[in-house]
Amino acid sequence: MKAGMFVKPGRVVVTDAPMPVIEKPSDAVIRILRACVCGSDLWWYRGISKREQGSLTGHEAIGIVEEVGDEVTHIRPGDFVIVPFTHGCGKCAACRAGFDGNCMNQEPGGNAGYQGEYLRFTNADWALIRIPGKPGDYSDDTLNSLLALSDVMATGYHAVASAEVKEGDTAVVMGDGAVGLCGVIAAKLRGAERIIAMSRHADRQRLARQFGATDIVPERGADAVKHVMDMTDGDGADSVLECVGTQESTATALQIVRPGAVVGRVGVPHGKEIDTTKLFWNNNGLRGGAASVTTYDKNILLKAVLDGRIKPGRVFTKRFDLDHIQQAYEAMDQREAIKSLIIVSEA
Ligand SMILES: [Zn+2]
Ligand SMILES: [Zn+2]
Repeated sequence: MKAGMFVKPGRVVVTDAPMPVIEKPSDAVIRILRACVCGSDLWWYRGISKREQGSLTGHEAIGIVEEVGDEVTHIRPGDFVIVPFTHGCGKCAACRAGFDGNCMNQEPGGNAGYQGEYLRFTNADWALIRIPGKPGDYSDDTLNSLLALSDVMATGYHAVASAEVKEGDTAVVMGDGAVGLCGVIAAKLRGAERIIAMSRHADRQRLARQFGATDIVPERGADAVKHVMDMTDGDGADSVLECVGTQESTATALQIVRPGAVVGRVGVPHGKEIDTTKLFWNNNGLRGGAASVTTYDKNILLKAVLDGRIKPGRVFTKRFDLDHIQQAYEAMDQREAIKSLIIVSEA
Protein backbone atom coordinates (compact mmCIF):
# COMPACT_ATOMS: atom_id res chain seq x y z
CA MET A 1 0.00 0.00 0.00
CA LYS A 2 1.05 3.60 -0.52
CA ALA A 3 2.06 5.73 2.45
CA GLY A 4 3.88 8.99 3.10
CA MET A 5 7.40 8.56 4.50
CA PHE A 6 9.88 11.00 6.01
CA VAL A 7 13.25 10.94 4.23
CA LYS A 8 15.06 14.00 5.58
CA PRO A 9 14.16 17.57 6.51
CA GLY A 10 12.35 19.08 3.54
CA ARG A 11 11.68 15.71 1.91
CA VAL A 12 8.62 13.46 2.23
CA VAL A 13 7.96 10.73 -0.35
CA VAL A 14 5.30 8.12 -1.12
CA THR A 15 6.63 4.66 -0.38
CA ASP A 16 5.32 1.11 -0.75
CA ALA A 17 4.68 0.10 2.88
CA PRO A 18 3.49 -3.26 4.26
CA MET A 19 -0.27 -3.59 4.68
CA PRO A 20 -1.10 -3.04 8.39
CA VAL A 21 -2.75 -5.92 10.26
CA ILE A 22 -4.55 -6.39 13.60
CA GLU A 23 -1.79 -6.98 16.15
CA LYS A 24 -3.79 -6.67 19.36
CA PRO A 25 -7.43 -7.44 20.13
CA SER A 26 -7.99 -3.70 20.76
CA ASP A 27 -6.82 -2.67 17.26
CA ALA A 28 -8.67 -1.68 14.12
CA VAL A 29 -7.42 -1.34 10.57
CA ILE A 30 -8.75 1.74 8.83
CA ARG A 31 -8.93 2.50 5.12
CA ILE A 32 -8.07 6.19 4.92
CA LEU A 33 -10.16 8.56 2.79
CA ARG A 34 -8.77 11.97 3.67
CA ALA A 35 -5.69 13.01 5.62
CA CYS A 36 -3.82 16.28 6.04
CA VAL A 37 -0.61 17.99 7.08
CA CYS A 38 -0.39 19.45 10.59
CA GLY A 39 1.36 22.64 11.67
CA SER A 40 3.23 20.48 14.17
CA ASP A 41 4.62 18.44 11.24
CA LEU A 42 6.52 21.55 10.14
CA TRP A 43 8.80 21.30 13.17
CA TRP A 44 10.40 18.10 11.87
CA TYR A 45 9.88 18.99 8.20
CA ARG A 46 12.03 22.05 8.83
CA GLY A 47 14.58 20.03 10.80
CA ILE A 48 13.91 21.92 14.05
CA SER A 49 12.81 18.78 15.88
CA LYS A 50 14.09 15.26 15.21
CA ARG A 51 12.19 12.51 13.42
CA GLU A 52 13.31 9.01 12.60
CA GLN A 53 14.29 8.53 8.96
CA GLY A 54 11.94 6.19 7.14
CA SER A 55 9.08 6.75 9.57
CA LEU A 56 5.58 6.97 8.13
CA THR A 57 3.94 10.39 8.35
CA GLY A 58 0.58 11.90 9.29
CA HIS A 59 -1.64 11.81 12.37
CA GLU A 60 -5.02 13.19 11.23
CA ALA A 61 -7.59 11.39 9.07
CA ILE A 62 -11.10 10.18 8.36
CA GLY A 63 -11.76 6.73 6.94
CA ILE A 64 -13.69 3.48 6.84
CA VAL A 65 -13.12 0.68 9.34
CA GLU A 66 -11.81 -2.33 7.45
CA GLU A 67 -11.29 -4.84 10.26
CA VAL A 68 -11.42 -4.89 14.08
CA GLY A 69 -9.84 -6.98 16.83
CA ASP A 70 -11.82 -9.25 19.16
CA GLU A 71 -12.14 -6.67 21.95
CA VAL A 72 -13.53 -3.97 19.69
CA THR A 73 -17.31 -4.06 20.01
CA HIS A 74 -18.50 -0.45 19.66
CA ILE A 75 -16.95 0.01 16.23
CA ARG A 76 -17.71 -2.33 13.32
CA PRO A 77 -16.19 -2.95 9.90
CA GLY A 78 -17.77 -0.54 7.43
CA ASP A 79 -18.19 2.27 9.98
CA PHE A 80 -17.26 5.75 8.79
CA VAL A 81 -15.00 7.27 11.47
CA ILE A 82 -12.91 10.21 12.59
CA VAL A 83 -9.40 8.90 13.20
CA PRO A 84 -7.93 11.09 15.96
CA PHE A 85 -4.23 11.46 16.67
CA THR A 86 -5.02 10.41 20.24
CA HIS A 87 -5.70 6.83 21.31
CA GLY A 88 -7.78 7.04 24.46
CA CYS A 89 -8.77 3.76 26.10
CA GLY A 90 -11.74 5.45 27.78
CA LYS A 91 -11.04 3.59 31.02
CA CYS A 92 -7.86 4.91 32.67
CA ALA A 93 -7.78 7.78 35.16
CA ALA A 94 -6.73 10.31 32.49
CA CYS A 95 -9.47 9.29 30.04
CA ARG A 96 -12.10 9.22 32.74
CA ALA A 97 -11.11 12.75 33.77
CA GLY A 98 -11.53 13.93 30.17
CA PHE A 99 -7.84 13.93 29.21
CA ASP A 100 -7.73 11.20 26.61
CA GLY A 101 -4.78 12.95 24.94
CA ASN A 102 -2.85 11.71 27.97
CA CYS A 103 -4.31 8.19 28.02
CA MET A 104 -2.19 6.02 30.28
CA ASN A 105 -2.69 2.97 28.05
CA GLN A 106 -1.38 4.45 24.79
CA GLU A 107 1.10 2.55 22.70
CA PRO A 108 4.22 4.65 22.07
CA GLY A 109 4.62 5.76 18.46
CA GLY A 110 1.00 4.98 17.62
CA ASN A 111 0.17 8.33 16.12
CA ALA A 112 1.89 8.10 12.75
CA GLY A 113 1.18 6.71 9.31
CA TYR A 114 -2.20 8.36 8.76
CA GLN A 115 -1.03 9.77 5.40
CA GLY A 116 -1.37 6.37 3.77
CA GLU A 117 -3.95 4.04 2.27
CA TYR A 118 -4.39 1.91 5.42
CA LEU A 119 -3.62 2.41 9.09
CA ARG A 120 -3.43 0.22 12.17
CA PHE A 121 -5.21 2.13 14.94
CA THR A 122 -4.78 1.19 18.61
CA ASN A 123 -7.42 1.48 21.37
CA ALA A 124 -10.00 1.57 18.59
CA ASP A 125 -13.06 0.67 20.65
CA TRP A 126 -13.31 4.00 22.50
CA ALA A 127 -10.97 6.38 20.66
CA LEU A 128 -12.52 6.23 17.18
CA ILE A 129 -15.52 8.49 16.64
CA ARG A 130 -18.28 7.06 14.47
CA ILE A 131 -19.83 9.44 11.94
CA PRO A 132 -23.48 8.70 11.07
CA GLY A 133 -24.10 7.34 7.57
CA LYS A 134 -21.48 7.06 4.87
CA PRO A 135 -19.06 9.49 3.19
CA GLY A 136 -21.35 9.92 0.18
CA ASP A 137 -24.00 11.45 2.45
CA TYR A 138 -21.82 14.52 3.03
CA SER A 139 -20.69 17.49 0.98
CA ASP A 140 -17.01 18.01 0.25
CA ASP A 141 -16.97 20.91 2.76
CA THR A 142 -18.52 18.82 5.52
CA LEU A 143 -16.05 15.99 4.90
CA ASN A 144 -13.26 18.52 5.43
CA SER A 145 -14.85 19.76 8.65
CA LEU A 146 -15.11 16.15 9.87
CA LEU A 147 -11.43 15.68 9.03
CA ALA A 148 -10.61 18.78 11.10
CA LEU A 149 -12.09 16.97 14.11
CA SER A 150 -9.21 14.47 14.06
CA ASP A 151 -6.89 17.10 15.52
CA VAL A 152 -6.93 20.78 14.61
CA MET A 153 -10.47 21.69 15.69
CA ALA A 154 -10.24 19.57 18.85
CA THR A 155 -6.90 21.20 19.62
CA GLY A 156 -8.41 24.66 19.16
CA TYR A 157 -11.18 23.60 21.50
CA HIS A 158 -8.62 22.32 24.00
CA ALA A 159 -7.08 25.80 24.04
CA VAL A 160 -10.40 27.38 25.08
CA ALA A 161 -11.16 24.61 27.58
CA SER A 162 -7.68 25.01 29.11
CA ALA A 163 -8.02 28.81 29.15
CA GLU A 164 -11.48 28.42 30.73
CA VAL A 165 -13.12 30.71 28.16
CA LYS A 166 -16.56 31.74 29.38
CA GLU A 167 -19.60 33.50 28.00
CA GLY A 168 -18.92 37.22 27.60
CA ASP A 169 -15.12 36.92 27.79
CA THR A 170 -12.56 38.94 25.93
CA ALA A 171 -10.34 36.19 24.54
CA VAL A 172 -7.04 36.65 22.72
CA VAL A 173 -5.89 34.02 20.24
CA MET A 174 -2.14 33.90 19.65
CA GLY A 175 -1.23 32.23 16.36
CA ASP A 176 -3.05 32.36 13.03
CA GLY A 177 -2.23 28.85 11.84
CA ALA A 178 -5.04 26.35 11.47
CA VAL A 179 -5.07 25.64 15.23
CA GLY A 180 -5.30 29.32 16.13
CA LEU A 181 -8.11 29.78 13.62
CA CYS A 182 -9.95 26.82 15.13
CA GLY A 183 -9.30 28.45 18.51
CA VAL A 184 -11.32 31.42 17.23
CA ILE A 185 -14.17 29.06 16.26
CA ALA A 186 -14.02 27.44 19.69
CA ALA A 187 -13.95 30.76 21.56
CA LYS A 188 -17.10 31.81 19.72
CA LEU A 189 -18.70 28.43 20.42
CA ARG A 190 -18.04 28.99 24.15
CA GLY A 191 -19.66 32.42 24.00
CA ALA A 192 -16.67 34.79 24.09
CA GLU A 193 -17.94 38.25 23.27
CA ARG A 194 -14.75 39.80 22.02
CA ILE A 195 -12.23 37.65 20.17
CA ILE A 196 -8.91 39.29 19.35
CA ALA A 197 -6.91 37.33 16.77
CA MET A 198 -3.18 37.99 16.59
CA SER A 199 -2.51 37.68 12.88
CA ARG A 200 -0.46 39.47 10.29
CA HIS A 201 -1.39 37.58 7.14
CA ALA A 202 -4.30 38.92 5.10
CA ASP A 203 -5.75 35.50 4.13
CA ARG A 204 -5.69 34.32 7.75
CA GLN A 205 -7.12 37.58 9.05
CA ARG A 206 -10.05 37.16 6.66
CA LEU A 207 -10.71 33.62 7.81
CA ALA A 208 -10.35 34.62 11.47
CA ARG A 209 -13.09 37.24 10.95
CA GLN A 210 -15.32 34.67 9.19
CA PHE A 211 -14.84 32.36 12.18
CA GLY A 212 -15.86 35.06 14.67
CA ALA A 213 -12.85 37.25 15.45
CA THR A 214 -13.98 40.77 16.32
CA ASP A 215 -10.53 42.40 16.26
CA ILE A 216 -7.18 41.75 14.61
CA VAL A 217 -3.80 42.60 16.14
CA PRO A 218 -0.98 42.28 13.59
CA GLU A 219 1.94 43.22 15.85
CA ARG A 220 4.19 40.92 17.83
CA GLY A 221 6.17 41.21 21.04
CA ALA A 222 6.07 44.48 23.00
CA ASP A 223 3.95 46.23 20.34
CA ALA A 224 1.36 43.47 20.51
CA VAL A 225 1.24 43.72 24.30
CA LYS A 226 0.69 47.49 24.08
CA HIS A 227 -2.02 47.11 21.42
CA VAL A 228 -3.99 44.53 23.42
CA MET A 229 -3.64 46.46 26.68
CA ASP A 230 -4.88 49.63 24.92
CA MET A 231 -7.85 47.74 23.48
CA THR A 232 -8.83 46.40 26.90
CA ASP A 233 -8.37 49.73 28.75
CA GLY A 234 -5.32 48.34 30.49
CA ASP A 235 -7.18 45.34 31.90
CA GLY A 236 -5.76 42.56 29.76
CA ALA A 237 -7.71 39.59 28.39
CA ASP A 238 -10.05 37.30 30.34
CA SER A 239 -8.47 34.34 28.60
CA VAL A 240 -5.56 33.79 26.22
CA LEU A 241 -5.13 30.93 23.76
CA GLU A 242 -1.46 30.26 23.04
CA CYS A 243 -1.42 28.34 19.75
CA VAL A 244 2.20 28.90 18.65
CA GLY A 245 4.56 27.36 21.18
CA THR A 246 7.55 29.68 20.85
CA GLN A 247 9.08 31.33 23.87
CA GLU A 248 8.17 34.78 22.54
CA SER A 249 4.54 33.86 22.06
CA THR A 250 4.22 32.34 25.53
CA ALA A 251 5.90 35.39 27.07
CA THR A 252 3.49 37.71 25.23
CA ALA A 253 0.51 35.62 26.36
CA LEU A 254 1.55 36.02 29.99
CA GLN A 255 1.78 39.80 29.60
CA ILE A 256 -1.68 40.32 28.14
CA VAL A 257 -3.69 38.12 30.48
CA ARG A 258 -5.57 39.89 33.30
CA PRO A 259 -4.99 38.91 36.94
CA GLY A 260 -6.74 35.67 37.82
CA ALA A 261 -7.07 34.48 34.22
CA VAL A 262 -5.64 31.42 32.53
CA VAL A 263 -3.43 31.02 29.46
CA GLY A 264 -4.47 27.86 27.59
CA ARG A 265 -1.56 26.52 25.59
CA VAL A 266 -1.70 24.05 22.74
CA GLY A 267 1.35 25.13 20.71
CA VAL A 268 4.03 22.47 21.19
CA PRO A 269 6.52 24.32 23.43
CA HIS A 270 9.88 25.12 21.87
CA GLY A 271 11.29 27.44 24.51
CA LYS A 272 11.98 26.15 27.97
CA GLU A 273 12.23 29.23 30.14
CA ILE A 274 9.08 30.53 31.76
CA ASP A 275 9.22 32.74 34.83
CA THR A 276 6.55 31.21 37.01
CA THR A 277 7.01 33.91 39.66
CA LYS A 278 4.89 36.32 37.61
CA LEU A 279 2.11 33.71 37.49
CA PHE A 280 2.02 33.80 41.28
CA TRP A 281 1.85 37.57 41.66
CA ASN A 282 -1.03 37.80 39.17
CA ASN A 283 -2.86 34.63 40.17
CA ASN A 284 -2.51 33.44 36.58
CA GLY A 285 -2.78 29.90 35.37
CA LEU A 286 -0.83 28.35 32.52
CA ARG A 287 -2.08 24.99 31.37
CA GLY A 288 -2.58 22.90 28.27
CA GLY A 289 -1.11 20.04 26.32
CA ALA A 290 -2.36 17.41 23.93
CA ALA A 291 -6.06 17.78 23.14
CA SER A 292 -8.76 15.43 24.43
CA VAL A 293 -9.89 14.72 20.88
CA THR A 294 -12.34 11.88 21.44
CA THR A 295 -13.92 13.55 24.48
CA TYR A 296 -14.54 16.87 22.71
CA ASP A 297 -15.67 15.24 19.45
CA LYS A 298 -18.18 12.97 21.16
CA ASN A 299 -19.45 15.62 23.60
CA ILE A 300 -19.56 18.76 21.45
CA LEU A 301 -17.74 19.04 18.16
CA LEU A 302 -19.21 16.29 15.96
CA LYS A 303 -22.71 17.57 16.63
CA ALA A 304 -21.61 21.17 16.01
CA VAL A 305 -20.24 20.17 12.59
CA LEU A 306 -23.27 18.04 11.67
CA ASP A 307 -25.60 20.90 12.71
CA GLY A 308 -23.60 23.31 10.56
CA ARG A 309 -22.75 25.51 13.57
CA ILE A 310 -19.02 25.33 12.90
CA LYS A 311 -17.12 24.94 9.63
CA PRO A 312 -13.51 24.22 10.58
CA GLY A 313 -12.90 22.55 7.20
CA ARG A 314 -12.35 26.03 5.77
CA VAL A 315 -8.79 25.91 7.08
CA PHE A 316 -7.96 23.57 4.19
CA THR A 317 -7.02 26.02 1.48
CA LYS A 318 -5.12 23.64 -0.84
CA ARG A 319 -5.73 20.03 -1.79
CA PHE A 320 -3.41 17.31 -3.05
CA ASP A 321 -3.54 13.61 -3.76
CA LEU A 322 -1.25 11.22 -1.89
CA ASP A 323 1.23 11.12 -4.79
CA HIS A 324 1.82 14.86 -4.30
CA ILE A 325 2.52 14.67 -0.59
CA GLN A 326 5.80 16.56 -0.95
CA GLN A 327 3.91 19.49 -2.50
CA ALA A 328 1.38 19.34 0.35
CA TYR A 329 4.17 19.87 2.87
CA GLU A 330 5.85 22.54 0.74
CA ALA A 331 2.62 24.52 0.47
CA MET A 332 2.35 24.73 4.26
CA ASP A 333 6.05 25.33 4.76
CA GLN A 334 5.92 28.23 2.26
CA ARG A 335 2.67 29.52 3.83
CA GLU A 336 0.89 29.10 0.49
CA ALA A 337 -1.70 26.96 2.27
CA ILE A 338 -3.16 27.52 5.73
CA LYS A 339 -3.57 23.73 5.90
CA SER A 340 -2.98 21.13 3.19
CA LEU A 341 -5.67 18.51 2.53
CA ILE A 342 -4.59 15.11 1.18
CA ILE A 343 -7.21 13.11 -0.68
CA VAL A 344 -6.12 9.50 -0.26
CA SER A 345 -9.24 7.91 -1.74
CA GLU A 346 -12.42 9.47 -3.16
CA ALA A 347 -14.76 6.92 -1.53
ZN1 LIG B 1 -1.86 17.55 14.12
ZN1 LIG C 1 -7.01 5.90 28.75
